[in-house]
Amino acid sequence: MFTATTIAEVREGLEPVRRADRCIGFVPTMGALHEGHVSLIRAARRDCAHVVVSIFVNPTQFGPGEDLAKYPRPLEEDLRACREAGTDLVFAPTASEMYRSNAVTTVRVGKLSEPLCGAFRPGHFEGVATVVAKLFNIVMPGRAYFGEKDYQQLVVIRQMVRDLDLPIGIVGCPTVRETGGLAMSSRNRYLSVEQRHQALSLNQALTEARQAVTAGTRDVSMLCDMIRRRILAAGEARMDYVSIVDAASLEALQTVDRPARMCVAVRIGDCRLIDNMPVDVPGAHG
Ligand code: AMP
Repeated sequence: MFTATTIAEVREGLEPVRRADRCIGFVPTMGALHEGHVSLIRAARRDCAHVVVSIFVNPTQFGPGEDLAKYPRPLEEDLRACREAGTDLVFAPTASEMYRSNAVTTVRVGKLSEPLCGAFRPGHFEGVATVVAKLFNIVMPGRAYFGEKDYQQLVVIRQMVRDLDLPIGIVGCPTVRETGGLAMSSRNRYLSVEQRHQALSLNQALTEARQAVTAGTRDVSMLCDMIRRRILAAGEARMDYVSIVDAASLEALQTVDRPARMCVAVRIGDCRLIDNMPVDVPGAHG
């Protein structure tokens, strides 16, 4: 496995791969890797001849007062995880390598960046779309792998690729969960034992709401109330949002009458957790 820290090293390292017409699979990450990230690397390994992982805590997707400074950066462990999962090249640039000059160009994926997390983290998806577009141009992968854990991000990236005609297949991968159902996240390490237990309520609430949909409940405000109550029953939490949205457009629904996504963002202590789950109704056409 080769570790590159500069854009030039990546271009040079991938030159022979591209010349040999070998498919490049790409997994962008912010590091602090866990089984969720590893599942993406394995999927890339399965599909592609050459696997590239980026590890970059992108400052432009963090807002003022967010956890940029304290975001975990265990690089040695991350490199080991990448090696074990079969990565060929890791790109771990510094912020000054990625944002060298007085850059003024950004990528904004209009309407899809506005609801859900976009409403609570202004500029977040612009930061994400811009860095992913830059990474795509540096790595030039045939396929790139993203987790459904960050559902809105996946939808935003798919739209960006479509709108900008980028020749990259976007592969969405299922959320990997800990025993008990908590969605794996680099931020889970901020949770105390008690808070981690409390955090199980996110998945439990979504699972119960999905069961309610299967049993015939379609009213979104009823379902959202149910989710909120279930999470608050587990302990003190501040809810950024509990929403059921159209799975493709991310528009808020009143009734579950098409393929939909239930999405939650909850603050437990200092830790902001997100989770989501698909819901569909038999016979609905989206
Ligand atoms: P991050 O390092 O948080 O920016 O995440 C990098 C990639 O890993 C993104 O595509 C995430 O959606 C994905 N990811 C993070 N957590 C999980 C998880 N629990 N299951 C599947 N994918 C995940």
